[in-house]
Amino acid sequence: MIVVLEKGVSLKDKASIVRLIEQHGGRLLVSELGDTTHIGLVDTVAQALADRIRVMPGVAAIRSEAPPYPQVSREYRETRSLVDVRDVAVGGSEVVVMAGPCSVESATQIATVAEAVADAGARILRGGAFKPRTSPYSFQGLGEEGLYLLAAARDQTGLPVVTEVVATEDVALVATHADMLQIGARNMQNFRLLSEVGAQPKPVLLKRGISSSIEEVLLAAEYVASAGNTHVILCERGIRTFETATRNTFDVSAVPVLKRETHLPVIVDPSHAAGDRELVPALAAAGVAAGADGVLVEVHNDPDSALSDGPQSLTLPGFTEMMGTLKAVADAVGRRIR
Ligand code: PEP
Ligand code: MN
Repeated sequence: MIVVLEKGVSLKDKASIVRLIEQHGGRLLVSELGDTTHIGLVDTVAQALADRIRVMPGVAAIRSEAPPYPQVSREYRETRSLVDVRDVAVGGSEVVVMAGPCSVESATQIATVAEAVADAGARILRGGAFKPRTSPYSFQGLGEEGLYLLAAARDQTGLPVVTEVVATEDVALVATHADMLQIGARNMQNFRLLSEVGAQPKPVLLKRGISSSIEEVLLAAEYVASAGNTHVILCERGIRTFETATRNTFDVSAVPVLKRETHLPVIVDPSHAAGDRELVPALAAAGVAAGADGVLVEVHNDPDSALSDGPQSLTLPGFTEMMGTLKAVADAVGRRIR
């Protein structure tokens, strides 16, 4: 339930409403936007109090049909959120391209890819240090060493870095070195991890779970927001369906649906959807055309010898070529790519 207060509501009236709710043990989420105040109530106590609150001075409306993810919903905040990843704003008119290898493999590899993607117009560098692999025998990432290599690549190129965190005990470490923390598809419903990244200040890139509905994505984002961190970017990266021609099925509808439901920025990851580098530019273009605020894409200087996700990684020239297409598509939909 969301209580919308009248514009210019007096402090006294607001305090009475808040006091009544608190006396009944309700949990409040207060959002002040310009001269409008919305109070979100997430607890069941809200329903019992609705009739009393409705007639209190200062109350403009009660929206009891509000979604179960109040903090991330557009009912609660109509204007779109900008998420700053160091000095790069995601969610504005620019479509932000985030590129880099699936895994950080060596100092030379990450430095080479970072330079190349920066030159081609990427704004954020990606690279996995802690890798969630399907098989325990696959490369698990360089761990802490990978974080240092990413930080060095940031120093070299000026690109902020995003990297995945897979365990609650690593959140502080990853947050020390990265500019944005990625929650991978496999951990989208790891609620302890969501709360942990919600309790630190760096922005969070939340990827859609492999078999998750859009509502589940939004509830996962609400976990992060409810722990105190509303700097969340959502990412459509393909879902598991009966179709086997692609690694996952790219759900392009998720982009406009999410953007209707939430004020958070929404980006697409065509690499993990396609699983095949040949298909990546088309899916990326579709995502931008559908209104995505960014594209997260895997790029490798030598994909054939990549330690993870080589088949879906663009080559350096392939990435540059795709950027040309994406710029044209962004232009066509009234957005821009730097
Ligand atoms: C990745 O970004 O390399 C990754 C593991 O992605 P996902 O969680 O979407 O599979
Ligand atoms: Mn990958």
